[in-house]
Amino acid sequence: MRIHDTLSRKTVELEPRERGRVSLYVCGVTPYAPAHVGHARTAVVYDVLKRHLVHAGYEVRHVSNYTDIDDKIIRRARENNEPPLELSARFIREYQEDMIRLNIVPPDVEPRVSESIGDIIDLISLIVANGYAYVTGDGVYFAVRKFEHYGRLSGRSVDEMRSGARVEVNESKDDPLDFALWKFARPGEISWVSPWGEGRPGWHIECSAMSLRYLGAGFDIHGGGEDLIFPHHENEIAQSEAALGPGHFAKYWLHSGLVTMSGEKMSKSLGNITGVRELLAMYPGQVLRLFLLQTSYEKPLKFSLAGVEQAFGSYERIVEFAEFLRSSLPNSAGESKAEVRDLAAKLQSEFDASLDDNLNTSRAFASLFEFMTGVRKAATEGVLCRSDLEELERSLAGVLNVLGLDQTAEYAEHKRMGLARKAGALLELSDYLGIAPDAGVNVASVLQGIIDRRQLARTAGDYALADQIRERLRAVDIALEDGADKVRYRING
Ligand SMILES: [Zn+2]
Repeated sequence: MRIHDTLSRKTVELEPRERGRVSLYVCGVTPYAPAHVGHARTAVVYDVLKRHLVHAGYEVRHVSNYTDIDDKIIRRARENNEPPLELSARFIREYQEDMIRLNIVPPDVEPRVSESIGDIIDLISLIVANGYAYVTGDGVYFAVRKFEHYGRLSGRSVDEMRSGARVEVNESKDDPLDFALWKFARPGEISWVSPWGEGRPGWHIECSAMSLRYLGAGFDIHGGGEDLIFPHHENEIAQSEAALGPGHFAKYWLHSGLVTMSGEKMSKSLGNITGVRELLAMYPGQVLRLFLLQTSYEKPLKFSLAGVEQAFGSYERIVEFAEFLRSSLPNSAGESKAEVRDLAAKLQSEFDASLDDNLNTSRAFASLFEFMTGVRKAATEGVLCRSDLEELERSLAGVLNVLGLDQTAEYAEHKRMGLARKAGALLELSDYLGIAPDAGVNVASVLQGIIDRRQLARTAGDYALADQIRERLRAVDIALEDGADKVRYRING
């Protein structure tokens, strides 16, 4: 497999340090708020990388952290009058639930800062002993100028970075680029005992400590979102090499692109719906997953509900195709056809080749859709025999498993409720009507909000608007029946 390594700026052959094994560290979330679609993208991208490597025969060890204590968590916890570690534990649970819905295979280890303080202190001690850190009145700082390779990952010179560094209130640092390894606690703040004084770790040190602890001094791939290249990953390299010497940290650096908001007009009332929870309330997790994978991981991804709706259509095609293969009656007298077997072989080789080429998921999807078209065509030309059908089903299942698109239960539920692919239209109508839905958006509540609004219009004698709403609902196969006491709705299609 070839991967684009941020550090060498080249696309290189992945050569793990140990044959047949890949160690992978991915920076996790700071759980102080619900996850947004950017977090989901990072999780889905590295999940597919892992699935692909496992499919190729590697044993993968995957570690991803939770920054369960930091300034933002402490601030929010104070606002909520809640202990900080309880707040972060709550959002970690939520995040894990979201990840299950996105069909993410959980990492092998998910260390938390609050449970890794010993490892963090040991690592800082090494850095201090090697002369790369100094103690001030408010903490222990890493001396960037002492580390000669600083800036190698982001490709910037120290002078350039220094001029761009924010001027901070903190005057105790020797250099604006220096960063905290340990912060002394202010009165009343959560803290741990350390050789330098009571306090808590700075942000960057945890990822060095946890990756080295769970993957060893020298592992294969370090991943994360592109926004972490500077300063977070730059600092991780500096800390780790200052402690252990060169060559004892990550061999390859992978970065997934950011999610940007598209220019589409979004509802003022609904706000920009980019929370994973809100999206999962309206769409099956598999649809969101497909949406996130259609764009290759390094590219920026433009988020729009229209894009998710489109992904819903693609997902529906895949589900229907799988159903078509399952329900096709084999011709017992038919013979296996070479052209059918070729379609299966072609899918497998093209799919693998696409992912081997720096995880090109968008091309992998193109191979899948081409395969589906080819099989449909072959099926119209003659009845498929049992062994061919089985072969096609096996190939499809293998591909869907690597993409993590092999769970149909949620989709079946949307379909059963008759609400599959109606979220986009309902959100649009609700926006048009200026309805601000309650917290806890879901498709059913958006629909109910629209029906209630129509009732209001009727009561006020605005029959034109009431009729218009009825027509727009009818356009998406939702029929309204005005009863004596209440309005019923029937969902068709
Ligand atoms: Zn990190």
